[in-house]
Amino acid sequence: MTRDDPELGPEKQCSACGEWWPLDGEFWYFRVIPAGTPARSGGKVYVRSVTVRHVYSRCRACWSERNRANHAARWLARFRECAASLRLEGRD
Ligand SMILES: [Zn+2]
Repeated sequence: MTRDDPELGPEKQCSACGEWWPLDGEFWYFRVIPAGTPARSGGKVYVRSVTVRHVYSRCRACWSERNRANHAARWLARFRECAASLRLEGRD
């Protein structure tokens, strides 16, 4: 969701935290899809004739929070794996 603030310019609402942030690279991640990239629309494949800038639905703060959580979860899973294999070795 985007809106235009008369003073601050275009803003976008984060789908995760619900905050409105100015629509620029400081607050959002963008994915640039260059012209010539195949795309799909309604089951048909076509080639993009213009370069588009896709903005992610979560703000940077929410992305980094999620990445931190993912990172911690992976680390914990790995730690448990190591602990389990150490216990197995100890039994022999
Ligand atoms: Zn957010």
